[in-house]
Amino acid sequence: MAWRFALMIDPVASDIRRNDFSDTFTVIDPGGAALRVGDLSAQRGDGIFESLGAIDGHVQEVEPHLARLAHSADLCELPTPNLDQWRAAIARVAAEAPAGESVVKLILSRGVEHGPTPTAWITLADAPDSARARTEGVRVTTLDRGYASDVPARAPWLLLGAKTLSYAVNMAAIREAKRRGADDAVFVTSDGFVLEAPTASVVLRFGDRFVTPTPNAGILHGTTQRSLFAHLEQRGFETAYETVPASDLSRADAAWLLSSVRLAAPIAAVDGEAKTVDRALTDELNAYLLSPRD
Ligand code: PLP
Repeated sequence: MAWRFALMIDPVASDIRRNDFSDTFTVIDPGGAALRVGDLSAQRGDGIFESLGAIDGHVQEVEPHLARLAHSADLCELPTPNLDQWRAAIARVAAEAPAGESVVKLILSRGVEHGPTPTAWITLADAPDSARARTEGVRVTTLDRGYASDVPARAPWLLLGAKTLSYAVNMAAIREAKRRGADDAVFVTSDGFVLEAPTASVVLRFGDRFVTPTPNAGILHGTTQRSLFAHLEQRGFETAYETVPASDLSRADAAWLLSSVRLAAPIAAVDGEAKTVDRALTDELNAYLLSPRD
């Protein structure tokens, strides 16, 4: 990934209103060192993040991402982020974005061990090329997430609805999927229900009805899925949040992995069994997802 630009952010309390936050930003070398060795993001993965897509300098879905950042901070008992400050940081970074697709990443760490404040920074990088995933699709393998569907309610300390920096498990799942000859994974509960992919939401189509697993099942509520559902509803399709049995992945007429940077990647195979890719509909969905969205 080519890093283009980065800012350290001096976090400002959420109740402080200002018109100008520029004195709280420090431009840093995006290829250089920036963190203290004691930072808990590096020591324990103790922090949260958001990845936003940017297209020709327009950052997509800023408000839904900021709302999820605030929600993750709340679940992790981090200080409430000052969203005006983050908006200003996103605008500052967007001004540096080149033509084409980029990734803007917001990171909020608990900070240096025993330190008084969290550490925050924002980066801009070139987006990886997703053309093949968006057209030919991705082969997925289902992987047991290791807990039953009632665990999120029983064990909130697992932080299952928060976008924490602890993605080692998610990355391990993608490696396991590759070992099994697939491109990506879909997590299922130990009692057999679809959750999400390690870095994407799952959406299934049954006729004119689009379904995604209910977000209180211990998954992230995807900004891309929400935006796509609003678009599909406008086009007259029905959408629903449901408990989705793992067998529905094969039974559905079509299925996609949805995320802010790769956008809609059609599922081309499930556990080695080919699935039809609806190329025309997928192209349409990606044309919508590539259009400027707020
Ligand atoms: N689920 C997980 C675990 C993710 O990491 C992501 C995005 O990275 C998503 C779902 C999709 O979220 P979004 O559409 O907001 O990118």
